[in-house]
Amino acid sequence: MKPSVPGTGPGDILALIRRSGVCTRAEIQQITGLSRMTVGQRLAPLAEQGLLRDAGPQGRTGGRPPQGLEFNPGQGVVLAAALETTRCRTAVTDLAGRILRTGEPQVSVQAGPRETLDAVCSSLLRLLRDHGTDLSAVRGVGVSLPGPVDPVTGRPSEPPIMPGWDGFAVIEHVSSRTGVPVVVVDNDANAMALGEYVRRGPDGPPLVLIKVSTGIGAGIVIDGEVYQGVDGGAGDIGHVRTHHEGRMCRCGARGCLAATASGWAVAEDLTALGVPAASGHDVQLLLAAGDPHAARLTREAGRLIGDVAATVVSLLSPGTLLLGGDLASTALLSGVRERLYRRTLPRATRHLQVELAAIGGDAALVGITRSVVDRVFAPAAVNEWLAGEGPGEP
Ligand SMILES: [Zn+2]
Repeated sequence: MKPSVPGTGPGDILALIRRSGVCTRAEIQQITGLSRMTVGQRLAPLAEQGLLRDAGPQGRTGGRPPQGLEFNPGQGVVLAAALETTRCRTAVTDLAGRILRTGEPQVSVQAGPRETLDAVCSSLLRLLRDHGTDLSAVRGVGVSLPGPVDPVTGRPSEPPIMPGWDGFAVIEHVSSRTGVPVVVVDNDANAMALGEYVRRGPDGPPLVLIKVSTGIGAGIVIDGEVYQGVDGGAGDIGHVRTHHEGRMCRCGARGCLAATASGWAVAEDLTALGVPAASGHDVQLLLAAGDPHAARLTREAGRLIGDVAATVVSLLSPGTLLLGGDLASTALLSGVRERLYRRTLPRATRHLQVELAAIGGDAALVGITRSVVDRVFAPAAVNEWLAGEGPGEP
């Protein structure tokens, strides 16, 4: 079943094609209820602008198979940046989120917003130049941040591990440094969840990604869109109180999930055992090297995360639960599965796939690109622009 669309302008048809992956003219007629002629009229301006391309013959029903249409991902590029607590990646991507060129500016969010974002913007503009493209091809800039982001203003909202970033005007700063008017900012777990969803193909079941790096957060994707909640706080599960009173969390409270099961908590526990580690990334390196303490503590972290994930799964009934971030490993996965299955009814997990995230480090770049493309090619924006009323080409 292809999704239905509320409107029937060219922008709505484009959104339908983007969500479906590939559509034939007959499918568009069927879903929208428009006549063959009207569908042709709606498609014409989209094709004229190069936004559609031929996807080849579809299906085998005898006779000549109908031709499919798909969104043309080559009609421009996106500049994408995925900021983590201690690292940062930048990329030029096409409109489908395919990564064309990447960079790793040597900067950390700890340096504060101005210094960090200036380094990110310089890196993005350098990548664009190296790719042999100029700003006229750039549809927008996307930035993912390792903390809560207000979905309306794009400003970080009391991020516990990003000193100086609270309320900072990220969109305005990035726009002025790059000269690109469209800038989208989101939380990194959201961007990763959307990136994994995109790579799984169109029309997937609801997906939850739990990111376990220096902090813990979750991204929720339903019907191809990130669920933000009332203020962008949806999925911020790192500060759910557990039974463990122990260590003080970075948010100032005690007993938070992140204070026991996050990368920094595991790193502190490892250090106390005589295995020095300072961050989630250090734990990742130890896991990769087969350190038995790292594996044991990560599995234990997985059990605690599994306790919280049991509530998440019971509430949302996703089709996919992914574990991403620095600690994503077989040790973490087995800990999560152990508690999740024990704490839910079989019915709750019957259709659930619990897996490690598939595209790892690229997921946030792919996801934030999708958010930019969704914004630029939103039905209303495309309809307005094609009607000649908009501020210019999207
Ligand atoms: Zn906390």
